[in-house]
Amino acid sequence: MIFNSNLNLLKAIGNTPCVKLENISKLTNHEVWAKLEFMNPGGSIKDRIAMYMVEKAEKEGKLKPGDTIIENSSGNTAMGLAIVCRQKGYKLKIVIRNTTSKEKIKMLEIMGVDVIKVEASLPPDHPDSYNNFASKLAANDPNVFYIDQHNNLDNNEAHYMSTGPEIWQQMNGRIDYFVAGVGTGGTCTGAGRYLKEKNPEIQVIGVDPVGSIFYDYFKTGKIVESSRYLIEGLGDEFLIKTAQLEMLDDMIQVTDKQAIENTFLLVAQEGILSGGSSGANIYGVLNLAKRLKEPSVICTVICDSGYKYLSTVYNDDWLTANSMI
Ligand code: PMP
Repeated sequence: MIFNSNLNLLKAIGNTPCVKLENISKLTNHEVWAKLEFMNPGGSIKDRIAMYMVEKAEKEGKLKPGDTIIENSSGNTAMGLAIVCRQKGYKLKIVIRNTTSKEKIKMLEIMGVDVIKVEASLPPDHPDSYNNFASKLAANDPNVFYIDQHNNLDNNEAHYMSTGPEIWQQMNGRIDYFVAGVGTGGTCTGAGRYLKEKNPEIQVIGVDPVGSIFYDYFKTGKIVESSRYLIEGLGDEFLIKTAQLEMLDDMIQVTDKQAIENTFLLVAQEGILSGGSSGANIYGVLNLAKRLKEPSVICTVICDSGYKYLSTVYNDDWLTANSMI
């Protein structure tokens, strides 16, 4: 890398490589590319929104020196925020499900984050649930800013402003399909919206775990009852503002087992050690690839690093206990 006197940790967020998955391309007879988001300083795609949403709030006067930031996160937004808060001097409180991988929780604690674990099995409308507790903590405190990545459209805008343009440039405009799992939906719809503006022919395909409500809502307009699933970072139990499903061309549903199998396929075929949501994306790519008649160019996202899941996806005891092997 060339010397750059302005480079600091926040400026190292984004501009991740977009690489051709050589062996998966051969396997599918299509060109498959992947944006390596585990190469962000916090090890995931969520560094982008952490920085963008904090800086937007600063510009809008919603954050002032000494404030505390609060957020509910499956761990990656939390890690991005931990970095941004260390760099900028804010305090950080994170509400996280007690089923989140030990590694993610430990890393946040090492970063000095106030980590509040909530019982994952609480119904979504319970005041102490993952979905409600952070906003409850933030209510009526002028020294607290609630990021609210699930309803704050600055999340989608972060990807519209960075992930989308980077993919367009790195692919040199040669892209037919963009495939991405929907957690908040920021990545898929934010980057997807940018790509579609550049070329309306590009199809944007969301991936949703079985147990989440997004897929059924997209296909039928009906809200089904959610059920527990293992893949961290994808899906939800109710509709959220940032999941702008109406702009997707299609959605693909993935089981935990299919996502995990394809996480291992990504290791075996490409030497990429990712989290389970990236395996879900690879399942989405393979599922799509089978249906395509013309040779196509497909781009997806490797959302985070497998280092965050050594105690879960890469642990035989966990896989056995959850009937994954
Ligand atoms: N994978 C992982 C591991 C994540 O943490 C997230 C964020 N929830 C996603 C995928 C989905 O990204 P988005 O929230 O932008 O839909």
